[in-house]
Amino acid sequence: MIITIHDKATSEERANLMALLCRITGSQRPIATTQTQQSEVIVLDGTQVNADAQVALGQQRAVEQLIQLKTSYQLVSRAFQREDSQVVIGAGHGCKTVTVGGKSASPVIMAGPCAVENREQLLETAHGVAKAGGQVLRGGAFKPRTSPYQFQGLGIEGLILLNEAREETGLPIITEVMEPGMVETVAQHADVLQIGARNMQNYPLLVAAGKHSQKRPVLLKRGLSSTIEEWLLAAEYIVAAGNPNVILCERGIRSYDPQTRNVLDLACVPLLKELTHLPIIVDPSHATGRSELVPVMSRASIAANADGLIIEVHPDPNTALCDGKQSITPAELKQVIQETQMLSRMLKGELVMAPVA
Ligand code: PEP
Ligand code: MN
Repeated sequence: MIITIHDKATSEERANLMALLCRITGSQRPIATTQTQQSEVIVLDGTQVNADAQVALGQQRAVEQLIQLKTSYQLVSRAFQREDSQVVIGAGHGCKTVTVGGKSASPVIMAGPCAVENREQLLETAHGVAKAGGQVLRGGAFKPRTSPYQFQGLGIEGLILLNEAREETGLPIITEVMEPGMVETVAQHADVLQIGARNMQNYPLLVAAGKHSQKRPVLLKRGLSSTIEEWLLAAEYIVAAGNPNVILCERGIRSYDPQTRNVLDLACVPLLKELTHLPIIVDPSHATGRSELVPVMSRASIAANADGLIIEVHPDPNTALCDGKQSITPAELKQVIQETQMLSRMLKGELVMAPVA
């Protein structure tokens, strides 16, 4: 159950509400409120609230609305918030700001290397991404590698290089954070915190990304074998902890066929548009594992109504220290951006095709 709080509630009205909630839930501690994009709310486990308690809550002056939802996820649900959430990237770092989500917005393209390898590679890629029309620069400084013997990323040095790339190109940056204790540090450098597929159910990390002081947007990738409900509940952790700026990212799920690295679940995009108000982008690089499939699956993702793409780009994919097989070049990225922009404008009716004779 979600309780939305009147923005004009006095401190006495709030205190009365909190005291009642403590009685209803049997808790000694005041119940935490959370700020969503639209209002201040309290979320309760619906089973704690019987019919009498509901009536008593409804009579509280501090309560604007009581919302009973049937789904396990609450704050991220479309039934709670009908309007699309719009997530603003880049505020506070003096770079360009980019908005993800919302019906009128055009798809946002995030692109860059899987891993920050060195200064030259990052800056060359960053300039290539900017020139191609990309709006956000990606690059892993902390890499969650399957094998402990593979390149693990440059760590803090990688974050410093990403800062330099942002200063040179004006592009906001997205980079992965793998542990709760590093969230504040990564948030000081990055414009978007990426939580990777392997960490989608790392609950202390989700809570830390929800609570950190800067409230940077979080890109939450779908877990390797996660259901849509598990994914939405992971997003719920971040929002319930206080950060409403969450973007979902479909990056393919595990299956049995090794021909592609993962199976790109494109049907989840229109489905998520019904289930949640959060923006959803697609990562065709990890979803396919094959650079030659990235352009067409980028177009397919935009046709499925994705709010953007995150694509791995390397100036020389053959020498990449990580994920070279699925990386495209900056020139190929330019083509992908042109095609997906055109497609998006056509789907919105902004670009009219000549009628078939
Ligand atoms: C990445 O973006 O480089 C990455 C490791 O992605 P994922 O978490 O989707 O595997
Ligand atoms: Mn990668």
